[in-house]
This record gives sequence, C-alpha cells and structure tokens, in this order.
Amino acid sequence: MSFVPLDHKAAGHDGTLQSADGSLFSKPTLQREIDFYNSVQTLAQQQPEDAQLGSSLIDWMPGYYGILTPGITNEVKQKVPAGQQIDGELTKKAEETVQKTGKEKQYVVLENVLHGFKKPSILDVKLGSVLYDETANEEKVERMKKVSAETTSGSLSFRICGMKISDDFNGKLPDDLGDLKISEVAKAEGGYITFDKFYGRRLTKETAKEGLEAFFKHNNLPPKVQTIIIDNFIKRLQLIYNCILDTEVRIIASSLLFVYENDLSRWEKLNYEEPLIHERLITEDGEDDDEVEIKIDDAPLSTLKFIDFAHAKHVPGKGYDEELAKGVENLLSIFESF
Ligand code: ADP
Ligand code: MN
Repeated sequence: MSFVPLDHKAAGHDGTLQSADGSLFSKPTLQREIDFYNSVQTLAQQQPEDAQLGSSLIDWMPGYYGILTPGITNEVKQKVPAGQQIDGELTKKAEETVQKTGKEKQYVVLENVLHGFKKPSILDVKLGSVLYDETANEEKVERMKKVSAETTSGSLSFRICGMKISDDFNGKLPDDLGDLKISEVAKAEGGYITFDKFYGRRLTKETAKEGLEAFFKHNNLPPKVQTIIIDNFIKRLQLIYNCILDTEVRIIASSLLFVYENDLSRWEKLNYEEPLIHERLITEDGEDDDEVEIKIDDAPLSTLKFIDFAHAKHVPGKGYDEELAKGVENLLSIFESF
C-alpha cells in the first residue's frame, strides 16, 4: 500500500496523504487524537444494536483504520494484504521527520471521505469559540483568544477555515465578497478556487452568510440540485445537533467537513437521491485475521463529516459540549435562511 499527497483539501497542516487507490486518508497526528478515535470505537461497541444511525458520534466521523509510524505497527501490518508493502511518500515523510526531530511521527489512517467524488467542493468549518485547551502554553492561549475575539469563532462559535470550490460555474466570482477582495484570499488552480484561512478569518458575523452561500451557490449545478444539497445538509446538521446533545465530550478546534459533488452525471445516475448518512462497512473475515475487507457502497453525492480531534476527550457525567451545540445552531439558522 503506498501513499501519495492528498488530491484535495480545504484547510489544515501540510503532510496530508491518501492511499494510491484513493480510498484511505492519512495525516500526521497527536496521541490525543488517536486515543479519541480508539475510545469512540470502544464506546460504539457498547451501543445497542438498534441504535439509530446518526445518534452516535462515530456515525459522523470518518472510518478509522489505525495508525502508521515509520516502524510500521503490527496493527497496520495485519491490515496490509500479504506480499504488499507500505512504502512511498508516507515512509519518506516519516523518515524525514525522524531525522529532523529525532522523534517518530504518527499518522492516523482514516477513510478518505472524498473517495469516489468526481469533482468535489469542500468546506472546512471549525466549531467553537474556545480555540485552546489545557495543554496550550500561555503564548498559544493569548494567540487563540485573539483569533476568537476577532473572528466569527467568537461571535458565531464557528469559522470557515478554508474551502475549495469548483471554478466551473456560470458567470464569474465577483471581484469582492462583501468587503473582501477575492484575489487576496483565493487562488484559482486546476479547475478549483481555494479560499485560504484568511478568507474565513476576515468574515464577520454579518458576512459569514455570504461565505457559506458562496460555497453552496458558486457551481454549475441546476438550482434544483443546489436545493437538494442544502436540504440534505440541513437535515444532517439537525441530526448532528441531536447527537451532540446526547454526547458527553469536550472537543476543541474540531471541524465539520462539507463535501458535495459538482459532476451532474453522478447526480443523474443516482436519480438525485442519497442517504443522509453513508455506512461504509469494514468487515473483518472471522477465519483469517489477516483479511480485512473494505466494502464501499456508491460514493456519496454529498457528505458531512466531523473531523480533527487533536483536542478531544470524553467527559462522562459532565453533559454535552455547549460550544459545539452553539456553532451548529448558528450554522443551522444560516442554512435555513438560504
Ligand atoms: P489538521 O490538524 O491539519 O487541521 P484536519 O483533520 O483538520 O487536520 O484535516 C485537514 C484537512 O484535510 C481538512 O480540512 C480536509 O480538507 C482534509 N481531510 C481531513 N480528514 C479527511 C478525510 N478523512 N478524508 C478526506 N479529507 C480529509
Ligand atoms: Mn483542522
């Protein structure tokens, strides 16, 4: 199994990778994020069989396949079919890291939620107004307080972190969005326009709506399909909201990742219909531990995922995360106004 740089991303640090076949996503990670993915898996195993899809956090997270380190863990070795090797970009990157820092870097391996999309538009929205946790040093606390105070993180408990949209749409993007000059915050390349983190940081309580609208409306899809996309995301946000209210966690600086398909032929082929939540099953063959089959259904036409758990923990008995709830509430009321 070899890894290559990720095709498309909305935001985040360098070093994101995907498997050569596109089905897996991998990024450098912290122990905290791995611990969180593991504990979510453990909790899911204790769920009643008839739990409704969408009621647990795990239903909204990318599928989790384990971790990779330069030494290659046994856990991963078991998942690699006999005779194949993990090589390429990932090992190179990992070795460079070891050389530079003297430390091994861990990579988390997840389902690539973009797999199967022909021309995805991608939006990363960071949730919450508090952007640091108890592990942050004084300098980071001050810096993050300032970012929050000066952006919609503070006013709306969410902030557009980055977005990548198709540049294939009727008419041109306006030169400016509100009081923002497009050329200063966006870059056109390879059929896409990428808006960097400064775009989202400069949006205000009043203009955040325009940013979200740009994501959903700047495409060549018929209005009918645009409406379906927005409706489906509203329903998903409602489900995720209920899930948040039922989940005792504290999650700082995580994101909601919105993805939709721009290729109309895929919408036509699936008759404009899709489930709100796609189940991607990993079935482990009972007889042979070495065999893990990844079953992937038809790729989604749009999807909503909860990502980035570097500052996440379970807090049994302490109630739901009010910051997440506020962010989703505000997103919902903007979406409903479209
Ligand atoms: P970081 O710690 O760098 O912020 P994130 O988990 O937020 O890491 O991921 C960074 C970017 O990578 C996201 O904005 C998104 O575009 C992309 N990404 C994250 N997880 C996945 C995934 N499972 N599949 C596809 N793309 C992903
Ligand atoms: Mn992120």
